[in-house]
Amino acid sequence: MKSSNRSLPALIVHGGAGARAPSLDRMAHRQGILKAARYGVEILQQGGLALDAVTSVVKALEDDPLFNAGYGSVLTAEGTVEMDAALMTFTPAAAAMTAGPRSRNHADESMKSTGAAGTSGPRPALAARAGGAVAAVSRVRNPILLARAVMELTPHVLMTGAGAERLARRARLRLCRPSDLITERARARWRAALDRQLVQVSYGSEYGTVGAVAVDSQGRIAAATSTGGVTGKMAGRIGDSAIIGAGVFASEAGGSSATGQGEAIIQSALCREAVSRVARSGALAAAQRAVAVLARTTSGEAGVIVLDRRGRFGYAHNAESMQVALYDVSGGLRQLWVEPMRS
Ligand code: ASP
Repeated sequence: MKSSNRSLPALIVHGGAGARAPSLDRMAHRQGILKAARYGVEILQQGGLALDAVTSVVKALEDDPLFNAGYGSVLTAEGTVEMDAALMTFTPAAAAMTAGPRSRNHADESMKSTGAAGTSGPRPALAARAGGAVAAVSRVRNPILLARAVMELTPHVLMTGAGAERLARRARLRLCRPSDLITERARARWRAALDRQLVQVSYGSEYGTVGAVAVDSQGRIAAATSTGGVTGKMAGRIGDSAIIGAGVFASEAGGSSATGQGEAIIQSALCREAVSRVARSGALAAAQRAVAVLARTTSGEAGVIVLDRRGRFGYAHNAESMQVALYDVSGGLRQLWVEPMRS
């Protein structure tokens, strides 16, 4: 099936919102986000799935030590790494009907619970939402792949602890020692904070949480977010990036990924809020209004990216700095620093 929408596919990526970094770091972040975005663009240009595009973008950013996700995650008050990640997809009925690998059909609940992909014959094609998430994991290099395994291999949506680790083994994901995820940079920052007896939650002190939203040529929508959380958080704290509706969301209207103060984002259901406004306001105003509501009701700082089902972009934040990479057919791939919203 060919899409009638000429603006598809499209992709938007963020690399976190927070304090303005020194200019060398800003340049490196810019290069990192564009490099990661290219993986997604390639998949989308070849007619691939929105889910594969956002997974590959977020995985690349998790592997980049400059970003606060996967390798390079910030440290808890105890000096450990605990990461959150989530993704969500929406598949329109028309796209669900087209032939594709059964393991990618997230409408198929029986496949999830039995692992018996492709054995049960044709089914009615229904539009479908699906999601997967992991919280406070510390033994996988790529939490976003584990979140995807939760979605594809289990009947659940959010997993943590030993069960999540067992699932990682079952999904043949690369396991590591928690210390393998700690960069010199993260350790030095944490030590400096310890020396000054300043180990406390430092919201927005640096950015680096990562997220991506894509719509593929068949109109399938996917959104993904991954983070190490906030420096100095209590061990066991779970942020918005693991919570569907808060740090990530996708529906028939579009998809969204968030960054910033997790507690404020959760209490505002920021991504759900942004996507629910898309149909009546458009993607850009939806992102701006969702951040404005968060700022007004929680006094928190956050950023959000939105992509509507036709591939139109929205982005907004009320932190100091946030960058996005954008791709669509007419504009190609580009990067921009988003101006903060005034309160
Ligand atoms: N939202 C993340 C968290 O609170 C942090 C961030 O986006 O910078 O865990």
